Amino acid sequence: MTATPRLPRSAARRLARIDHVLQATYQTPESVLGNKTDPLDEAVYIILSFQTGVERAKEVWSELRRAFPTWENLHAASTRRVARTLRLGGLHEQKATTIKRLLRSVKRQAGRLSLDFLRDLDDREAERFLIRLPGLSWKAARCVLLYSLGRDVLPIDSNTFRILKRTGVLPRRAVYRRRTVHDTIQAAVPAHRRRALHVNLVVHGQRTCLPRAPRCLCCPLNADCPRIGLPGGARGHLPVPSVASGEARAARADARA
Ligand code: SF4
Repeated sequence: MTATPRLPRSAARRLARIDHVLQATYQTPESVLGNKTDPLDEAVYIILSFQTGVERAKEVWSELRRAFPTWENLHAASTRRVARTLRLGGLHEQKATTIKRLLRSVKRQAGRLSLDFLRDLDDREAERFLIRLPGLSWKAARCVLLYSLGRDVLPIDSNTFRILKRTGVLPRRAVYRRRTVHDTIQAAVPAHRRRALHVNLVVHGQRTCLPRAPRCLCCPLNADCPRIGLPGGARGHLPVPSVASGEARAARADARA
């Protein structure tokens, strides 16, 4: 097994400052994300969330559970019928096919429609099982580990990846599909901070560091953010006036001390 590359010290310090400021700003509003405590529920929810906003994903989840109160009901239904219930979230045919394949695979391997047996496996074994299931990436597997199994892992979703590149924690040419990127960031964050940092980064990416039009002027990270890859961005500090909350400013000052 190859060792996980270490994040350069300056990038690790930057990441720690980001953690501090985002915690002061958002305070880990985990419930707004709608993640699930049952591992199979979470796996399905992550598939539903693919390229779909959180509020829409939550609506689609409710629709799905209304139509199919048990996973056995869904397993027995036609893909077409499942797709109809997912229409609101987009990519409904693809997601219906993936969820059906996921359930078939779980039933075949676990003997029933449950992933509860993962609770008895260590992180590495559980992750290895999950990433072999249809529709589950490393990020999805780590969401199941984090939210349903209470493991100290750090899923890197597209929000997190974008923010870490713009803020210079990750190099501009970092590639999302490369596993070392996920492992390096996870290893750079103390185990007890991973859950909160993940939640705060996801929320920051949804509310402020948006994909197309980031709200840099009201961002609590703007004083330190080089905005790499954005118009006007540069390697270095930006002369963007901070209009962050007093709490976030105080947190930044603490973090630099
Ligand atoms: S300053 Fe702009 S680019 Fe940097 S984290 Fe904030 S919103 Fe994103």
